[in-house]
Amino acid sequence: MIGVAVLGSTGSIGASTLDVLARHTDKFKVVALGANRNVAKLAQQILALRPAFAALADVKAARDLTERLAGSGTQTRVLRGEEGLIEIAAMSEAPVVMAGIAGSAGLRSTLAAAQAGKRVLLANKESLVMAGPLLIAAVRAAGATLLPVDSEHSAIFQCLPPGYIPGTITAGVRRVLLTASGGPFLDWPHAALADVTPEQACAHPNWVMGRKISVDSATLMNKGLELIEACLLFGLAPGQVEVVVHRQSIVHSLVEYVDGSMLAQLGSPDMRTAIAHALAWPSRLACGVDFLDLIRTARLDFCAPDLGRFPSLALAQAAARAGGLMPAVLNAANEVVVQAFLDRKLNFLDIPRVIESVITTMSAGAIGSLDDVLAADAEARHRAHERLVRPHPGAVRAAV
Ligand code: NDP
Repeated sequence: MIGVAVLGSTGSIGASTLDVLARHTDKFKVVALGANRNVAKLAQQILALRPAFAALADVKAARDLTERLAGSGTQTRVLRGEEGLIEIAAMSEAPVVMAGIAGSAGLRSTLAAAQAGKRVLLANKESLVMAGPLLIAAVRAAGATLLPVDSEHSAIFQCLPPGYIPGTITAGVRRVLLTASGGPFLDWPHAALADVTPEQACAHPNWVMGRKISVDSATLMNKGLELIEACLLFGLAPGQVEVVVHRQSIVHSLVEYVDGSMLAQLGSPDMRTAIAHALAWPSRLACGVDFLDLIRTARLDFCAPDLGRFPSLALAQAAARAGGLMPAVLNAANEVVVQAFLDRKLNFLDIPRVIESVITTMSAGAIGSLDDVLAADAEARHRAHERLVRPHPGAVRAAV
């Protein structure tokens, strides 16, 4: 039995991971669950799975959870705060860790799992975007196994020959093509984007995901973060990653080789495939996903992204080219503005405007340490918040 810790268990990736694990209780045992503050859902998961450990980042919520579980007969030990999540990520009882926390909040626990030499199932792309070189170095130093869960990166990984080394380009690879569904506003005219609501932005046509990544998909920032992720994971220059809009979300990404071959991975748009792949690699696991019927699918369309309507992708490409701390700056500014949009304090079109005004005013050097990353993150957040209060010229709707 392989012990698994699921960080972000109450979210969309967490639910899909628990669903795959529930189909293979002869192979895997859930030993720890972690989340932020969703006491009701975590309590439900604990009572169903009886893990040895659970943690909530929110200390008060962790106390509430302990009270809620009292008398339930469960032996689960509840840990508190980010330290509790880090403890879970590093504990020897769980050699496999699903890094499924949303956003920068997942950075330290993902790093801790890598430093402890775990098999890290990486859904939390933000930790790689923020501190990629540190995470890759930790993986190499500790002999950890880093397996991408983002469907595009899982696809690329599956199209590479055996012997992949994190952060190093595989011999013979010319470039990769990262597919993008285009999000819910793919066909909308620019002017109509001014009035979109959080509900519309979160209604993704093909995938069911958490709110933050859904908004990122709608702006195409998600594809930008994935471009940075691809460069870091596969040792590619930004110019070697081409984003291709593919509205059916059937081809999850492609690798082009120097001999003209192009390999693609196809499948239904269901995260359980990538999760099962990362859990079982180099084997395979059944995971309940619908099998593809290519004759019914019939069409696979590809086109270039419209950077005029979706400038967030261009901002991420620029951050990827700048490298160093700039992706962390981009990520922090994006997290602030996405939250402001979800809180109805910011217009959809102002999301890239505010991000641009933050990244163009910050000089971001090389990543020396985690402290550098955290300082750049904090400064970018501060500047983004400032712009929400005092909008920069042109961002007429950015004021709260
Ligand atoms: P959700 O919003 O559905 O879930 C987020 C999870 O993270 C919840 O368990 C939440 O806990 C937890 N969390 C949020 N903030 C904190 C915090 N401060 N400390 C600890 N835990 C926290 O997100 P998704 O599952 O959609 O996404 C998770 C990650 O996976 C993201 O990085 C995303 O980019 C990536 N990803 C997601 C895909 C998807 O299909 N959903 C596809 C590819 C990548 P609580 O419920 O208690 O708030």
